[in-house]
Amino acid sequence: VFDVLVVGGGPAGASAAIYSARKGLNTGVVADRFGGQVSDTLGIENFISVKATEGPKLVAQLEEHVTQYDVDVMKGQRAKHITRDDVLTIELENGGQLKAKSIVLATGARWRSMNVPGEAEYKGRGVAYCPHCDGPLFKGKPVAVIGGGNSGIEAAIDLANIVEHVTVLEFADTLRADEVLIRKANNLANVTIIKSAQTTQVIGDGKRVTGLIYTDRNSGSEHQLPLAGIFVQIGLVPNSEWLKESGVQLSQFGEIEIDSKGATSLPGVFAAGDVTTTPFKQIIIAMGAGATASLGAFDYLIRYDGN
Ligand code: FAD
Repeated sequence: VFDVLVVGGGPAGASAAIYSARKGLNTGVVADRFGGQVSDTLGIENFISVKATEGPKLVAQLEEHVTQYDVDVMKGQRAKHITRDDVLTIELENGGQLKAKSIVLATGARWRSMNVPGEAEYKGRGVAYCPHCDGPLFKGKPVAVIGGGNSGIEAAIDLANIVEHVTVLEFADTLRADEVLIRKANNLANVTIIKSAQTTQVIGDGKRVTGLIYTDRNSGSEHQLPLAGIFVQIGLVPNSEWLKESGVQLSQFGEIEIDSKGATSLPGVFAAGDVTTTPFKQIIIAMGAGATASLGAFDYLIRYDGN
């Protein structure tokens, strides 16, 4: 039986594991893919105190740091269910079971992609998902934002400060963002909003994005936009589908509800990072949240009497 079992091996999970191990707790990490979203990231320039690094390098350092402690790291395993009786049990997709007195859920999230030709090919080479992370890379250049919801319009306002021009492409004939954001974006001279626009292809020169093609859904006509970058803002989906029947309270968006110590609605179960209701999704925030959840679990365990 683990004292703390961490589900997820991204920045939140790695941080939770290190904090638990340093308390002398019997700690396990079960992760589908160690490193999480960081594995898919090229340049990282906002991990404070490290001026610039790359995703795979940071993942290797995370793993080195975790395994410096006596942590049982189980990679390539997916959790599919969680139950609670005298102890907590995580059932794995491979049929195995892991038991723990406390659990930190850190299964992260995934960006919804457009699924159009060129998107996957140019991911990290012009196709981006995180304006906080990659906005500065497009300083003085033209970019597009795909999606006219709150995150899309926020991204457009944010990017307008940095880039030359932002074109927002929204599939529907109306924007779904808050009125105040739409007003703000409409008042920016270097933001253009195009509605009823279906992006059909990302184009590039083999090395980097050079533009995109979209169809005007009213007229059926096809247009090409020259661009240096494309920010896809059509949703961040929490990896929490497997928790639906578990008694862990999820928000209407499927994010795990947590309190200020990272506790979920299920006693002994804590959560951290992009899978939770935390409003901003960043590496440094996920790491801080992992530490909080782990210390929350420690607080719980020192009061634990086996029930
Ligand atoms: P994740 O990194 O998503 O990790 C989730 C972990 O859970 C993984 O190990 C996964 O395999 C595992 N998992 C999921 N489901 C299960 C399951 N059922 N069972 C077992 N394991 C499971 N942030 C920055 O601060 N700076 C950047 O420059 C930056 N650039 C980014 C670029 C890209 C392309 C992307 C996609 C994200 C970027 N981010 C950046 C965001 C950052 O990567 C995330 O905020 C951060 O990784 C979240 O950490 P996490 O641990 O909560 O989740």
